[in-house]
Amino acid sequence: MSLLSDLSERIPGRVHGPGATEYDAGRTVFAGIGEPEAVVRPHTADDVASAVGLAAAAGIPIAVRSGGHGLLPVDDGLVVDLAEFTAIEVGADGLVTVGGGARWGDVAAALAPHGLCISSGDTRDVGVGGIALGGGIGWLVRAQGLAVDALREIQLVTAAGEVLIVNETLHPETFWALRGGGGNFGVATRFTFQAMPAEGLVGGHVQFDRSDVPAVLRAWRDVMRAGPDELNSSLVLMPPFGPEMPGGPQLGVALQGSEEQLRELLAPLLELPSVLEVALVPVAYGELLEDAPPGRPPFLFVGGNGFVPELSDAALDAIATAYDREVPTMVLLRALGGAFSRVAPEATAIAHRDAEALLIVNGVLALDAAPELVAATKVGSDAAIAFTSGVYGNFAPERGDEVTASMYPPATLERLRRVKAQLDPGNVFRQNHNITPAG
Ligand SMILES: Cc1cc2nc3c(=O)[nH]c(=O)nc-3n(C[C@H](O)[C@H](O)[C@H](O)COP(=O)(O)OP(=O)(O)OC[C@H]3O[C@@H](n4cnc5c(N)ncnc54)[C@H](O)[C@@H]3O)c2cc1C
Repeated sequence: MSLLSDLSERIPGRVHGPGATEYDAGRTVFAGIGEPEAVVRPHTADDVASAVGLAAAAGIPIAVRSGGHGLLPVDDGLVVDLAEFTAIEVGADGLVTVGGGARWGDVAAALAPHGLCISSGDTRDVGVGGIALGGGIGWLVRAQGLAVDALREIQLVTAAGEVLIVNETLHPETFWALRGGGGNFGVATRFTFQAMPAEGLVGGHVQFDRSDVPAVLRAWRDVMRAGPDELNSSLVLMPPFGPEMPGGPQLGVALQGSEEQLRELLAPLLELPSVLEVALVPVAYGELLEDAPPGRPPFLFVGGNGFVPELSDAALDAIATAYDREVPTMVLLRALGGAFSRVAPEATAIAHRDAEALLIVNGVLALDAAPELVAATKVGSDAAIAFTSGVYGNFAPERGDEVTASMYPPATLERLRRVKAQLDPGNVFRQNHNITPAG
């Protein structure tokens, strides 16, 4: 019998093959459309356990879909689509349980009436699953840390088909690994987070022209170094896209405080002659989140990302050079430090806690760009990426042992591999940034 018919017998009505709408939904992620054998859309953790147990026993690879904004389409085996796991419950003590297939925009909307928020990514449509297991860098990262830092408990279906409750006391090593180790250890059907007060947020943007990018970079670094944890920001250097969109540095900012305080903190930036526009207003946390672009942009992004331990003058010069080249180049700098850096490197599997910023540098090429241009563009991005000490896996668009090794310091990777050997010795959860079992 095929996987499809075996599964259909075990959990009737929940298993979908080629031709079904649910199959197409389950195999589509932000980066593309995969070719799995089947998609299962379970309703309960027990359904998940049945599906996973059956596939794992047959050695069939299993992938998990939460919000579907992953960058790695699934080419084989079974996709467990958590589209039905979207319940969000807010407890009196600020503990919030969230289904493994919910999206961050829905979480923000459910928390708003309670005056609460959870540190997440910047985008509404992105899933709770990918962010809560992979990191979660967004508008509250300096104020509250990563999304993984807010996690208190996870319900996990393992490759053995067991349903575990995992927290600091129950299966603590698994809890450690899940906070940064991605979808390697099982299906997370439910997350419990500690939410934080969300009141008094002010945010917005400042647009600069391209006349003195190095001055903007230095002023931004100095403002963020001097600023309190409550000050969060990203600096995006946009390339020009025709005369209507000349590009230039754009600062996105959020502060738990007043507009007056924000203007004071940003003064060295606001006084620069290259400022074109300032828009700072009181906002609700949910309003800071953006809608994802519809589908993948029709460009080839050539570059990389990484955690920058120190935004030295040399690092900023390399970033300015990478931006100011013939190939249109997009740079994103997200300020870290603050609560992000007060978590010990060994407390979660995201170990690069000394980072001052996350850097993404991408040359933007046509999809059919010549290989020589792609290679030259890569070299131009690499000069800036050389100042980073490790990759943020959730923004890494390729899989492979080398990519996984670049995400973790060696001791962290070895520890993850030991947990993997315990939980998934057959490596059925491998269609991800794969951590191979130790042994
Ligand atoms: C438009 C866009 C904006 C983004 N913005 C940000 C941002 O601001 N900050 C940030 O940190 N990241 C951001 N990201 C990156 C994002 O964190 C990753 O792409 C993430 O993996 C997406 O999660 P998802 O649940 O939507 O994706 P999915 O494709 O559903 O899942 C991605 C992978 O995560 C694992 N997974 C997901 N859910 C589960 C689960 N419940 N149990 C087990 N494994 C699971 C699986 O391995 C799966 O393949 C962005 C991505 C996009 C496309």
